Amino acid sequence: MDLKSLYTQIITENSRATHNRHPVIGATNSLEGINPSCGDDITLQFKVENDIIVDAGFIGTGCAISQASASLMIDLIKGKSVDEAKHYIDIFFGMIKGEIKEDEVIDELEDAAALQGIAVVPARVKCAVLSWHTLEEALEGKSGVSDHEASENDDAGSSYEEDGDGLSLN
Ligand code: ZN
Repeated sequence: MDLKSLYTQIITENSRATHNRHPVIGATNSLEGINPSCGDDITLQFKVENDIIVDAGFIGTGCAISQASASLMIDLIKGKSVDEAKHYIDIFFGMIKGEIKEDEVIDELEDAAALQGIAVVPARVKCAVLSWHTLEEALEGKSGVSDHEASENDDAGSSYEEDGDGLSLN
């Protein structure tokens, strides 16, 4: 099996995975992230105790990439410190933007590294980054609903193609 097939399999399997698909009892943070250009709608919940993310889950609907990305992210951050989670967010965005290419850095993302190939499919980048943006904002204390389209050009998801480098994450 080549790497691309392996990555496709990881995304497909994790898009169907149910182990992270649940509300979090006693959640300290809850934030809904919406990507209207695709219809992805994810509410991320997690519980922080002594700076450790002791539990995390998500509920919502969306395409396979958004769902797989959310589940892979939760697998990665659960049991980790808030600072470690922010470190993974930086690596993930760097990987998607193509600014981080070193295997030894990307490998820190474990199976979430399978989303690296999404970077070359601009229309799907918003799907892949939705849960990570939502996590980043929730860690900054934001709660409620975060509409990722509203803060960008209101042009139904084509802004990535129109940006100079095609992969701006704003
Ligand atoms: Zn999507």
